[in-house]
Amino acid sequence: MEKKFDSQHLDVVAFARDGAVLEGQDALQAMPRLLEEQVTGSLQPGPVIWRLSGRLLPQSGGADQIWLDLQASVALPMQCQRCLTPVLETVEAERSFRFVADEATAAALDDEAEEDILVVSRDFDALALIEDELILSLPLVPLHEVCPEKLPMSAVDPEFEVAAERPNPFGILAGLKTGKPS
Ligand SMILES: [Zn+2]
Repeated sequence: MEKKFDSQHLDVVAFARDGAVLEGQDALQAMPRLLEEQVTGSLQPGPVIWRLSGRLLPQSGGADQIWLDLQASVALPMQCQRCLTPVLETVEAERSFRFVADEATAAALDDEAEEDILVVSRDFDALALIEDELILSLPLVPLHEVCPEKLPMSAVDPEFEVAAERPNPFGILAGLKTGKPS
């Protein structure tokens, strides 16, 4: 019998024991904190594409470790810090989490373990974890690889000033006409 898992109410233990996989696509609107990071304008964000997989890691002489592997990506419009126009940044997150029995164990392990430790839950919001990871993966300085060329603005365009100072060709022509002996 197939067991159905819910990314927002995940039974982490069963998910890992089954070696289960959940994949999904959500609109950016489903992640309000991440949504706040986008600049609104001409560029549209892509969907949040994510994948969760559970696994048990056997330990010699101990209980199996519970692990959750997370991958996620989203194309997010941000403001280029060089030209200040929008740039579509591809934000990608990939991280593995080990789940332990309680807060005390997590706190004890947090200093020594290299991996990220979370407390096991039968009702775990993995979608919030995906959002957290994407926020942590945001570029500090969003930049275009190559910035789009700026449109010349008449007020600061040096060629515009030169044109304004140049004598009016019709005035010269008029002068020639009037100065012409009849
Ligand atoms: Zn730019």
